[in-house]
Amino acid sequence: MPKHIVSGLKYLASIELKKKGLTQQKIADELEIDRSTVSHYLNGRNLSWNSIDVAKTMTQLCPKDFLILTNVLFKNTKKTQKIISICQKKEFEAEILDSCIGCGLCVDLCLMEAVSLESLKANISSIECCGCLICQEGCPTSSIRILEVNNDREYQRS
Ligand code: SF4
Ligand code: SF4
Repeated sequence: MPKHIVSGLKYLASIELKKKGLTQQKIADELEIDRSTVSHYLNGRNLSWNSIDVAKTMTQLCPKDFLILTNVLFKNTKKTQKIISICQKKEFEAEILDSCIGCGLCVDLCLMEAVSLESLKANISSIECCGCLICQEGCPTSSIRILEVNNDREYQRS
């Protein structure tokens, strides 16, 4: 079953990339799969609709659960990052408070590799951040605020 769910997630990612105008070959390169597999996905062949339903349900979980489950299924951080960045539709921005001591724990905790240290202060890229809150929960000085960006570009505390 886990293999089928992985296929379901790749199917959803293929559909999203297709909507962005990528060719089948570009989609295949992005997802590191064969072009013929992408063709099958886009034509709805060789896939169980149950797997797609389970994959869709995963994308609707809270960002942390979606991220952790995807990482468990793929067993590969780079592939996980790719699926999350394509299928996670919410946007987040981070605020780092002056109380940050630059310990770097958040860099190690972030599966999305969204955090870097700049001048001994954490910096979070909103492009990579998927809003999982793992860094916020793990920060020893409570210096991280992850904010979801609403459609009207206003922020909402996660
Ligand atoms: S874990 Fe907290 S204190 Fe440590 S670098 Fe990250 S934000 Fe700063
Ligand atoms: S919330 Fe924190 S740990 Fe999660 S992706 Fe964003 S920066 Fe990384």
